[in-house]
Amino acid sequence: MTMLRSLPARNAAPRPRPALANATLVSRVEVTGTLGVFAVVLDAPLGAYKPGQYVSLGMENAGELVQRPYSIVSLDRTGTRVELFIRRLPDGRLSNILWALSLGARVRVGPARGLFVLDRDDARPRLLIGTGTGLAPLLAMLDDACARADTTPNVLIHGVSWFAELAYASRIRDWQAGSVPIDYRPTVSRPDERRNSGWDGPVGRAEAQVERLLLDHPALVDAPAYLCGNPDMIDACRRALLAAGVAPTDIHAEQFHAPVGQTPQPSPRMA
Ligand SMILES: Cc1cc2nc3c(=O)[nH]c(=O)nc-3n(C[C@H](O)[C@H](O)[C@H](O)COP(=O)(O)OP(=O)(O)OC[C@H]3O[C@@H](n4cnc5c(N)ncnc54)[C@H](O)[C@@H]3O)c2cc1C
Repeated sequence: MTMLRSLPARNAAPRPRPALANATLVSRVEVTGTLGVFAVVLDAPLGAYKPGQYVSLGMENAGELVQRPYSIVSLDRTGTRVELFIRRLPDGRLSNILWALSLGARVRVGPARGLFVLDRDDARPRLLIGTGTGLAPLLAMLDDACARADTTPNVLIHGVSWFAELAYASRIRDWQAGSVPIDYRPTVSRPDERRNSGWDGPVGRAEAQVERLLLDHPALVDAPAYLCGNPDMIDACRRALLAAGVAPTDIHAEQFHAPVGQTPQPSPRMA
């Protein structure tokens, strides 16, 4: 009898599949042909979130949910508008789907996750180093510092191949005009290429900037460092920081992908 009761009634209606999509694409601004700033609005607030964390962003494609982690650039006060800074890869599956979306498209956004988060209680100056879209979580940390009128000094190194990729320069300059001290050091790694002919700022890779910075400001060896972006930059910066005397426990890193030519590491768990 018990067994029979647990069986579904023969004509019971099938349970509705929970809707996967929970957010709407409301804005996409192309910084270059392969870099874009996306904004999605969630149907309900994101919930618990710490600056530096990522969400999984997904789309149903050919009957399958294709999703990848993306660091949050900012979350508005309602907790529903999420900004993301995304690079389109030549053969990237999800990034090309995202580029083809129309505004109003429905997407899936998972809860905020990740351990690469700002330590708000650490009052020492911070060293923030990002390459390309690796700037995203560092922006979230600075946005949070601005919202709290936190006067801890920040040095921000943003490494890019082409100066046109220096998205957010004007937002960073706006923050600099406020109460949060930010020493902004953008650097362009391919100064001799034609696309960089209008650039007269610092040149070289992010790690070279780090080495120079630590020579000029030795007190920064006591600064916590937040590194985000490609694996080669993270390795090189970690080596430079350790060689200068930065404590291993003061180096926090978020790697966006496996080193080129190596088997990709499994993505962080997604919602
Ligand atoms: C915690 C975390 C946060 C991330 N945040 C961001 C973010 O804010 N913005 C962003 O653009 N990406 C971010 N990524 C990378 C992102 O999740 C995807 O890997 C990327 O968008 C490619 O997805 P795809 O489906 O287009 O490419 P796929 O079809 O998955 O193919 C990607 C291939 O390219 C490699 N790859 C992945 N990313 C890059 C890259 N940037 N440059 C060169 N090769 C790469 C992968 O290792 C893989 O071999 C993050 C990754 C992690 C782990």
